[in-house]
Amino acid sequence: MKIFKKTSDLQLYLLQQRQSGITVGFVPTMGALHDGHLSLCAQSKIIAGFTVASIFVNPTQFNDKEDLEKYPRTVDDDIMKLISADCDVLFLPDDDEIYPAGLTHKNYPLGSIENKWEGAFRPGHFQGVCEVVDRLFTIVKPDYVFFGQKDYQQCVVIKKLLDISPHLCKIKMNIIPTMREENGLAMSSRNMRLSEEEKKNAAHLYETLFFIKENIQNGNNETLLGDAQKMLVKNNFKPDYLAIVDANTMDPISDWDGKRQIVVIAAAFLGNVRLIDNIIILKQNQQSI
Ligand code: AMP
Repeated sequence: MKIFKKTSDLQLYLLQQRQSGITVGFVPTMGALHDGHLSLCAQSKIIAGFTVASIFVNPTQFNDKEDLEKYPRTVDDDIMKLISADCDVLFLPDDDEIYPAGLTHKNYPLGSIENKWEGAFRPGHFQGVCEVVDRLFTIVKPDYVFFGQKDYQQCVVIKKLLDISPHLCKIKMNIIPTMREENGLAMSSRNMRLSEEEKKNAAHLYETLFFIKENIQNGNNETLLGDAQKMLVKNNFKPDYLAIVDANTMDPISDWDGKRQIVVIAAAFLGNVRLIDNIIILKQNQQSI
């Protein structure tokens, strides 16, 4: 695996590789890699063939300074994992490489998706995500990009970014299902900050989403949502939100027709670690993504 810290070196290498007709798959990450990230690399190997991963903890998407400071950094271990996943290139830029002096900060017209759910609890988060993704896509110029369903709203936002950005419109986006621990807990870099006891307890977040999926009915599901909320609180979570939303607009669904594709989304603190998760509710006869 080749490792590049400088944009110009990466771009020169990719230009040379492209001359032999490769198709580039790109997996942007913030490091502290786990099997969820590696499943994105595996899909990229299958779909694109040649895989570039990046590790960059993007300061502009953290509204909470402490969260940024506490974000786990395990680069040596990450490199070993990427080599074992047969990744071809790792881009490991520092802040100046992504945000060189003089770069003007754009404002992305994301519409209403920007300020809902994660956007409401983390103001500015999705502008920061778009800024770094735009920079990385512009540098790497991938044919395919791979994102995790785990960050469902982020996937909706990136789709929007591709739609509104002529220079990115040829990029094909792939959304990869969430990898989970045996107890159902969605793998996350932030899980490193949970104690063993908390990791066991954290499985209740997915259990709660699954409870909604199993019990959801056509019509109004307020009582079900209320019961699920109580399950979270009983299991020591402090929920930011728990909601049933339209899979495209992410608007809350108060009266489900049983046909529209929906997603149950949740964000909740366990101790001082904030976890997010979701579960897609498929229309009848529809295959899972
Ligand atoms: P992050 O390093 O947290 O920014 O995540 C990098 C990419 O990995 C994003 O597209 C995430 O959605 C994805 N990802 C994170 N956790 C998982 C998981 N448990 N399963 C699959 N993909 C994931």
